[in-house]
Amino acid sequence: MNFELTADQRAIQELTRELAEAEIVPNATSWDREHRFPDELYPKLADLGLMGVCVPEEYGGGGADFLSYVLVLEELSRADAGVGVTVAVHTSATTLPILSFGTEEQKSRFVPPLARGEQLGAFALTESGSGSDAGSLRTVAEPEADGWAITGSKQWITNGSRAGTFVLFARTDPATAGARGISCFILDAEHVRVTREEEKLGLNSSTTSDLALERAHVGRDRLLHDEDRGFRVAMATLDGGRIGIAAQALGIAQAAYDVARSYATEREQFGRRIGDFQAIQWKLADMATEIDAARLLTYRAAWLKEDGRPHTAEGAKAKLFASEMARRQTAEAIQILGGVGYTKEFPVERFYRDAKITEIYEGTSEIQRLVIARSILGRQVRVEPVQRA
Ligand SMILES: Cc1cc2nc3c(=O)[nH]c(=O)nc-3n(C[C@H](O)[C@H](O)[C@H](O)COP(=O)(O)OP(=O)(O)OC[C@H]3O[C@@H](n4cnc5c(N)ncnc54)[C@H](O)[C@@H]3O)c2cc1C
Repeated sequence: MNFELTADQRAIQELTRELAEAEIVPNATSWDREHRFPDELYPKLADLGLMGVCVPEEYGGGGADFLSYVLVLEELSRADAGVGVTVAVHTSATTLPILSFGTEEQKSRFVPPLARGEQLGAFALTESGSGSDAGSLRTVAEPEADGWAITGSKQWITNGSRAGTFVLFARTDPATAGARGISCFILDAEHVRVTREEEKLGLNSSTTSDLALERAHVGRDRLLHDEDRGFRVAMATLDGGRIGIAAQALGIAQAAYDVARSYATEREQFGRRIGDFQAIQWKLADMATEIDAARLLTYRAAWLKEDGRPHTAEGAKAKLFASEMARRQTAEAIQILGGVGYTKEFPVERFYRDAKITEIYEGTSEIQRLVIARSILGRQVRVEPVQRA
């Protein structure tokens, strides 16, 4: 086993860290307070190749591996988790499924503008009545002479109000309930109407929108993968996307640890640095240990995916552990700072708010446990969305 990053991976990590420290960290607090999506940031990420870092060069990307992409997400999320999720959904939930499931024509038409960051991508699966049970979605694609007319609504779509390209799921076979009969389509912004912008606990520099589709006409060239087999695209996409969310959680926890560690060496009470108290030392020791464990799970899952090996359970384990760890340890960071940790003077309260979502999207912790249990016990464990695939 080799735990060293390669020279290329270290260079990408360093490049992202420098960009994050110069362009994101100084602004993250105000973006959070103003609930502002930093439109001006993404062209800068694109200039550095970070909007398509793991996309092959022939499709306009950086040609790096999946672990490099995970390192990018970790560094971006360490600075601002809203930026992290914007890039995560753009890359692993939009660009990569088109690369994996698209025809040559679809790949050369839709991927380069995404990989070069000329357009943002969005992934539209969730609806008001279908979250964890994604197979119960009701958006319908009615057949027409040259394609489909799609009608329905989508809920909580990251990048929904900014994206130029959407990977969207709709039912092509209304007679079939569940995951069979769902197809995946590649849509443009003009196919969808943004009906609402969500107000959230955190991730305030990202956008989360509801969408309506009103007989949106798409040609056959917009069908991604086989008709009625789109659920497979959704599940495979989430298998990889979850590794990205694990990296996001890891970045948030690392940021909280950095602040807590530094505060522990400066703050004095009872005539001593609080870091001299064993209670605080143990908190830092636990934080460092859990962050390390999450990093190893996350990097292993990324390595397996890059190597083309099964990574469903390993990605679920990484996301489950990293997200719950980030929620626990961002709370501990507030505890180490005491009262000031609860105020807006330090960013740990933002980290705490941002960490919570990593336990929910791209599959809740409960769903991750079902996925992992199924890998242990087989099909007798009910995992609704997967079982129906
Ligand atoms: C900020 C944000 C961004 C998002 N971005 C996107 C996006 O870009 N694209 C997209 O398609 N979706 C997106 N989502 C949706 C997200 O993926 C869903 O919220 C998530 O999958 C959970 O679905 P739900 O909220 O409907 O919860 P529900 O499915 O209603 O779950 C409610 C509770 O029941 C539990 N539960 C449900 N089923 C089971 C079961 N079988 N066993 C045990 N427990 C169960 C859940 O774990 C949870 O605790 C986003 C959501 C948010 C909040």
